[in-house]
Amino acid sequence: MKKPVIAIDGFSSTGKSSISKIIADNLGIVHLDTGALYRGITWFALQNCLDDNDTINLEQLFSSFPLIDLQFKNDEGELVLYLNHINISKEIRSNEVSDNVSFIAKQKEVRDFLLQSQRNLAEKGGIIMDGRDIGTVVLPNADFKFFLTASIDERTKRRYQELLSLGIEADENLVRENLIARDKIDSEREIAPLTKADDAIIVDNTMLTKKETIETILSYLKK
Ligand code: C5P
Repeated sequence: MKKPVIAIDGFSSTGKSSISKIIADNLGIVHLDTGALYRGITWFALQNCLDDNDTINLEQLFSSFPLIDLQFKNDEGELVLYLNHINISKEIRSNEVSDNVSFIAKQKEVRDFLLQSQRNLAEKGGIIMDGRDIGTVVLPNADFKFFLTASIDERTKRRYQELLSLGIEADENLVRENLIARDKIDSEREIAPLTKADDAIIVDNTMLTKKETIETILSYLKK
């Protein structure tokens, strides 16, 4: 029997990736955190494509695509992102990347560059993919679609704790501003904006623990 294709979209810091990972383990399927790919490209741009005034030169970035090799590798059960064979899993969570990623992700060239490889990964089934446009654009025929949301206060708290646990310095107000700014750019961009697919199930996890959110999603999958 073909294993399911599951799309998880939603606002920043609603726990999409960590929840998807646990569901993937539970069902014996693959998890792909597509946000990490956009973060990886942003990290590459910050390292290699800055103008004299320290802004990202988009033309330089687009012409550098052939030099970008992003791969997930399994490191003791954790999927770790490598850029040209270097582990960048911590770098992509930095404030610098968070501040620039939505600008990079709204570029058509960037989205086109990542689209086909995301689709190819889902061809054989057995995958849970999380992001912003999975249920609407990347996998419109997914077997199950969920849209995660939570209050901005709760999301700020979670993201702040995540940064501290990674050893990254953070200011709670700046974290909140970054989440609001990213959600705005992601929702208002022209190409593949963040929006709930018509057939997605909304899960508001403001008052739910991670475990309860997972149980809610699993209850739909097992129906
Ligand atoms: O999921 P995460 O918060 O790490 O994603 C970082 C950013 O990548 C998002 O704010 C969004 O700008 C972009 N993104 C996207 N489409 C996806 C996944 C992420 O535009 N499918």
